[in-house]
Amino acid sequence: MKKKRNIPVKILRGKEAREFFKKIPLDSEKPKEPKNFRFQLSDEQQKKYDRWRKRHKCSFRKNGIRYVGAAGGADTFHITGTGLGYIVSVECSCGSICDLTEGF
Ligand SMILES: [Zn+2]
Repeated sequence: MKKKRNIPVKILRGKEAREFFKKIPLDSEKPKEPKNFRFQLSDEQQKKYDRWRKRHKCSFRKNGIRYVGAAGGADTFHITGTGLGYIVSVECSCGSICDLTEGF
């Protein structure tokens, strides 16, 4: 049979408790700012994006090819950071939007 250890317990109340908790560093006190922000689509998001890019009903598509000008740039990504993750969507110049959000 294990021998019971006697752990001393001190209950802190009022000012003593407040002082104790002030000493504990909390991550939430100093939010970390992301440096050199990068975003990458997951494999699943990339598949969905590719499918949508090739198949959505697009007013810029002629003979199966989407053309928005010599420089291209048909798609604009929208990335919104939240406390739960990123809300991600991509919008074509024609106005069609594909939601790529995961994990909500
Ligand atoms: Zn389009």
